Amino acid sequence: MKIKKQIISRTDHSVSRDAISDNALKVLYRLKDAGYQAYLVGGGVRDLLLGQKPKDFDVATDAHPDEVKSLFRNCRLIGRRFRLAHILYGRDVIEVATFRGPHEGKSPSHADQNKEGRIIRDNVYGSLEEDALRRDFSINALYYNIRDDSIVDFTGGMVDLNNKTIRMIGNADTRYREDPVRMLRAVRFAAKLDFQIEGKTNELIYELGHLLEDIPVARLFDETIKLFQGGYGLRCFQLLREYRLFELLFPMTEASINDTEHDGRTLKIIEQALKNTDDRIDSGKSVNPAFFLAVLLWHPMHEYKNRFIERGEHEIEALLSASREVIIRQQAYTSIPKRFSLMMREIWHMQPQLQHPTRKRAIRTLTNKRFRAGYDFLLLRNTVGELELDLLCEWWTDIQTKSKAEQENMCDQLGKGQKNSKRRNKRRRSKTVIKKTGQGNSLASAESANSE
Ligand code: ATP
Ligand code: MG
Repeated sequence: MKIKKQIISRTDHSVSRDAISDNALKVLYRLKDAGYQAYLVGGGVRDLLLGQKPKDFDVATDAHPDEVKSLFRNCRLIGRRFRLAHILYGRDVIEVATFRGPHEGKSPSHADQNKEGRIIRDNVYGSLEEDALRRDFSINALYYNIRDDSIVDFTGGMVDLNNKTIRMIGNADTRYREDPVRMLRAVRFAAKLDFQIEGKTNELIYELGHLLEDIPVARLFDETIKLFQGGYGLRCFQLLREYRLFELLFPMTEASINDTEHDGRTLKIIEQALKNTDDRIDSGKSVNPAFFLAVLLWHPMHEYKNRFIERGEHEIEALLSASREVIIRQQAYTSIPKRFSLMMREIWHMQPQLQHPTRKRAIRTLTNKRFRAGYDFLLLRNTVGELELDLLCEWWTDIQTKSKAEQENMCDQLGKGQKNSKRRNKRRRSKTVIKKTGQGNSLASAESANSE
């Protein structure tokens, strides 16, 4: 690759020190004052140039990880494949990476690739220029120099940024093979920035997507979270499907999407959940990955549940078995840490309780520590037409606003309704639904959820 180094002086670019976080500045100053080179790089520079707020700040330096560690008491060295330093300020982490260089002729303890060309160790240090060439896309290889506030560009990143283009640095085929996760990153940046992925960088994704199958499932899980919980999850999802990458990460979900059995509802519920997630992030609210994972695997879980029922298991037993089964199977594609898989199961298991509240059980459901997630899940299902239980949803919405005594009263009404309804439907197996009456809410007769 022909290298044309360009230096853009402070007067000719829009990145100002004021926009860089205090912690990132502290790290840059301390490295510089100790005599090292120190640059802001990656998303921090890219997003500031685009007038956006960076998610985090990454620093590049010629100081080796051990040298960085000796400068900062709050430093932790992480990563074997790619060793780097994390400088911790409470929850804020500044990532400091030492300039990387080419691998040719280096020992496998520092640089190693498997036979498919995938880099399994990348700890050869190099110069600033060499570092730029080892980054993924030109827009991610712009360096802000803390010494003179200039930006250094070796790969045409400024032009690509202006043209809204995502372009792999170097030979796209080799670079995707070195690290197939770059395909997911290309899609994520295209979605986040509303950029186009250029020529080969674009075409090769269709050809090389399958290489993701060799990536450790824990890393794929981390990328999945960045894709879906980054504030532009809906667009990421749509692009992942266009590039046929989604089916490699969530094959069971893709099968449910294409299964006419679900009547298009799998896609609907996923898109609605992602829209809600994006809106929540936009308004500064927190999101829990378990909720979205529970949405993604909801219909695949149902397919297993039906199989367990066919094998003679009772409805609830089948739900428990299917929840376990679907999570185990998904772990072959993306890992799911236990704290999330537990919560996914709790959300699923709560659904029958929410759909068929009884006098005895409703308060217990309400005080379940996962109630809010289970309830949101119920509302989501109702919104996309999977349930037609507006009044039931209203009942659950309503009861949360009541005093303890009023809540018990509402549950008692439920009990009365249930007795009447039992009498009315002696032999008919009834599913309950709440109906508003003049006196408030009470239980009425059998109206069933249209899907389960
Ligand atoms: P954001 O933080 O907004 O998700 P980012 O570009 O900062 O985007 P990071 O994952 O924080 O992404 O990585 C920081 C920088 O490190 C990137 O901009 C890129 O230069 C480099 N980088 C990260 N991952 C890779 C990779 N797999 N291959 C090559 N370079 C990478
Ligand atoms: Mg970053």
